[in-house]
Amino acid sequence: MKKFSIAMLSMVLAGSMLLTGCGNSAPSTKDDTGADDAQQPQQTEGTLIMGTNATFPPYEFVDENSEVAGIDAEIANAIAGELGMALEIKDMEFDSLIPALSSGTIDIVLAGMTVTPARQENVDFTESYATGVQVIIVPEGSSIASPDDLEGKTIGVQSGTTGDVYCTDDYGRDHVKQYSNGALAVAALVNGQIDCVVIDNEPAKNYVAANQGLKILDTEYVVEDYAAAIAKGNTELHEKVDAAIETLKENGTIASIIAKYIPAEG
Ligand code: GLN
Repeated sequence: MKKFSIAMLSMVLAGSMLLTGCGNSAPSTKDDTGADDAQQPQQTEGTLIMGTNATFPPYEFVDENSEVAGIDAEIANAIAGELGMALEIKDMEFDSLIPALSSGTIDIVLAGMTVTPARQENVDFTESYATGVQVIIVPEGSSIASPDDLEGKTIGVQSGTTGDVYCTDDYGRDHVKQYSNGALAVAALVNGQIDCVVIDNEPAKNYVAANQGLKILDTEYVVEDYAAAIAKGNTELHEKVDAAIETLKENGTIASIIAKYIPAEG
């Protein structure tokens, strides 16, 4: 039984390329070839709804056309293509992503989200597609030279992230100031309200490049795996996405998307 004609698939792919705007509605993915609808890969009427927090460049950010762009948007688009689905992206607070998954508002999260045992109690993670590192941003000339120097300091983090969790565990809640996104934490650092920011390395590089007088410490705080999150029990989608990620790793798509945004160093 034919699932999607090539023409149909390219239409869906072309449609989904246009679909990276927040909350845009999906084009129809209805098969007009007369193929058996029940045989089509379907999730929420042929549209994969991804949640993210678009303040995490280069994984996700709002581009000059007010659309969500970046590594995760492109990987999700490629996953949706593998599944024969259109992609819709919803931009929301990082803290809201797991609840949105559990309530069924979204189907999948790609948000530079780290796999952690605590999150695994609430959601399932796919195969990992990238590595992240928690790093420390300080003003140039800061006395902080490594994680050992963070004791007693005021650390800015994005609320609900692993940086937040680790710093709270290691240095105490009183020393951790939560911001709703990384940009606000970095702005507070620039304004001298906090001593450092703990955040993932790639957004850190973007924020340091965009603000004078900041640097990233050489010592890595924690190394992590990023994966897509799916609601617990949604094994059908989970298996399909794992298979898609496998294919996209094997055929080099994921590596080339990452290389497009993160030029190899050295
Ligand atoms: N990797 C971190 C986490 O999962 C931060 C993700 C983010 O801020 N988008 O908590």
